[in-house]
Amino acid sequence: AIPVITIDGPTASGKGTVAQRVATALHFHYLDSGALYRLTALSALSHKVSLDDEAALVEVASRLKPTFQADDVFLNGDNVSLAIRAEEVGNAASKIAALPAVRQALVELQLRFREAPGLLADGRDMGTVIFPNACLKVFLTASAEARAERRYKQLIGKGFSANMHDLLKDLNERDARDANRAVAPLKPAEGAYLLDTSNLTVDQAVEQVLGWYAA
Ligand code: C5P
Repeated sequence: AIPVITIDGPTASGKGTVAQRVATALHFHYLDSGALYRLTALSALSHKVSLDDEAALVEVASRLKPTFQADDVFLNGDNVSLAIRAEEVGNAASKIAALPAVRQALVELQLRFREAPGLLADGRDMGTVIFPNACLKVFLTASAEARAERRYKQLIGKGFSANMHDLLKDLNERDARDANRAVAPLKPAEGAYLLDTSNLTVDQAVEQVLGWYAA
């Protein structure tokens, strides 16, 4: 079977960076499942689809044909790598991710990422719902303050404006929404290793995941 490693955790926990580094080290494919929710949200926003019109959002999600190239993602030929990182799009993604039919519409697209020699899947429900038979499951956390600081640096680094007060508020709202929704709530998968990265460097977190994989 093609090995799958899942890394789940709350927003801005450092998952993305750690997951990409582990994928590169193992020459695995990489699935950023959050990007699929963000792409759906971006597409809905640009087509003026209401964020509570579940049927219309399912249409958007099932028509989604993103192409991933190195670090970039394209939608209908447009490079939307930066556009999907806007905080507005992240918040919209978190809203539509609470809709069961939208989640269902994205399942197949996610399963297709499982290709030789292996897959590193990053998200909220990779270990609990999408790849429950993964050979290694990790649940990455960090304190809200550490995460807000990371998100702040990320956004500023990409040229967006940001302030810590609003970010902490966004983050707490998003956590609550992700953890309390009826389908695929954010929680550690059965058998997941917990990794708190508040006081770890990226290198240390990557080493830990690789160590678990090798064991
Ligand atoms: O990880 P990221 O911040 O890019 O994800 C955007 C939103 O998509 C999250 O806030 C979450 O609500 C949703 N999501 C999800 N399940 C996943 C990945 C992301 O519900 N597997």
